[in-house]
Amino acid sequence: MRNALAISTLLVTGLLDAQVTALKVGHLVNPATGPAAANQVLLLEGGRFTAIGADVPIPAGATEVDLSQYYVSPGLVDAHNHLALTYKEEPEHNSYYLTSVMDSTALRAIQAVSNGMTMMNAGFTMVRDLGNNANYADTALRVAIEQGWVPGPTIIKSGIIIGGFGGQFYPVPEREMLIEPEYLNADTNDEIVKAVRRNILYGAKIIKICVDCKPYGYTADEMRLFITEAAKSGLKDAGHVQTHGGALRAIDAGIYSIEHSVALDDETHKLMAKKGIWRVCTETPFTTYHTNTPGAKERFDRQVAGMKNAYANHVKMAFSTDADYYIPGMDRGQVVIDFIKSWQAAEIPAPEILKIMTVNGYKVCELYDKRGPIKAGFPADLIAVRGNPLENLDTLRDVRFVMKDGIFFKKDGVMVPGAFFHSGPVPPSAWRIH
Ligand SMILES: [Zn+2]
Repeated sequence: MRNALAISTLLVTGLLDAQVTALKVGHLVNPATGPAAANQVLLLEGGRFTAIGADVPIPAGATEVDLSQYYVSPGLVDAHNHLALTYKEEPEHNSYYLTSVMDSTALRAIQAVSNGMTMMNAGFTMVRDLGNNANYADTALRVAIEQGWVPGPTIIKSGIIIGGFGGQFYPVPEREMLIEPEYLNADTNDEIVKAVRRNILYGAKIIKICVDCKPYGYTADEMRLFITEAAKSGLKDAGHVQTHGGALRAIDAGIYSIEHSVALDDETHKLMAKKGIWRVCTETPFTTYHTNTPGAKERFDRQVAGMKNAYANHVKMAFSTDADYYIPGMDRGQVVIDFIKSWQAAEIPAPEILKIMTVNGYKVCELYDKRGPIKAGFPADLIAVRGNPLENLDTLRDVRFVMKDGIFFKKDGVMVPGAFFHSGPVPPSAWRIH
C-alpha cells in the first residue's frame, strides 16, 4: 500500500509520468561522428531520449522547449576530480594533509554536493572521482545524487585510495593514525585483497592505487593482484603514477588507467597505446592563478609536449583535471573548464578535444553504452552553448542549458535545480545503498 502511494505521488509530481518533452534544437553536435546536424527534434519521455531527427513529429500535448538558437552537445566529463576535497591558502596553506585533519567527512560531503553542482553548471554531467574523500564522502555524494536528494553529475568513484604504508602522506610517527581514512594502507597481499574488498563494500566503482607514491611502491605482481581482485566484482584499477619505473610496472601489470602525466614519455606512450591503457593526465593550464610556483612555465611546456606526443602515438586520452583546490573567485566548475587551455596549447583540433571531453569520458567511465551519447533509449543528458564547439572550443565556457535525466538543471544561463530535490529517494529502486 505504501509503495503504491509513493508511486502515485511520483506520477503526480511528474517524475515517472508519461509526459513527452520535445526539444527543438538549432544544431545537434555528435562528437563521435563529426559535423552538427541542423534543426533537430529530440523527444524525451521518462527521463530518456525516445526519438531524434529532423523529421520527428511532435506528439500533441508534448511540452516544447525552444533551443533553436543553440548548439546542443552531449554533457562533458572530467575523468579525474576530487569533489570532496577543497584545500585552500587560508587556513591550511594549501596542504591537504591539514585539510584532512580540519574538515570532517560530513563537511566534505556537503562541499562535494556544492562542487558537483558547479560542475553541472559548467556542463559536466559525469565526473570520475578518484579518492581523497575522507571516510567515503564520495559514496555519500554518489548515493545522494542517485537517490534524488540533490542534483549532481553521474559519479564514478574510487572510495579510499589504496597505497603502501603512508599513501601520499608524510605524518610524524606519533600521528601515524592520520594516514587513514584519507588512505588505506595495504602492504601485503592479504592487505591488498582486504583493501580492495573494503572499497567495493563501501561503494567504489573503480579501485585507485598509489603505484609509486613512496620508494616502496607496488610491484607489477602486486598490481596484478589488485587487478584480479577488483575484476571479481567487475571493477578496473586506476593507478596514480609519478615515476618512469612506476609507469613501466603499471603498464606491465595491465592497469586500466594511468593518472597524471609527469612520468610518461614516448616509450611509455607507445606501450600504453599498444595495450589500450587510458592516459588520464590532469594537465594544469598555464594561467595567472597557477603561475606562482617556480618552474611553472617549464612544467607546462613539458606537459604540452607530452600531450602532443601521446596524441601522435594514438594513446587513449581523457579530459581530466585533478581539481581539488580553491582558487579565489572561481568555483570548481570554472576551474575545471579552464583546463581546455592545456588542450588548445597542445594544438589538438577542437572536434578531437570535444570528443575527448565527451565520448572518451564516457568510455573511461565504462558508461559509453549506457549514458552520455544523445541517443534514443539513453538517459536524457545534454548541454547547450551559443556557438559551434567543433569550431571554437571556447563556446564551452558559457554553457547556457544543462539537462540530466530529462530534468532541466540550467536554463537561459541560470541554474534552476528545483526539480532535482526530493525529500526521499527517487526512484524507489535507489533505496539500495552504496
Ligand atoms: Zn588526483
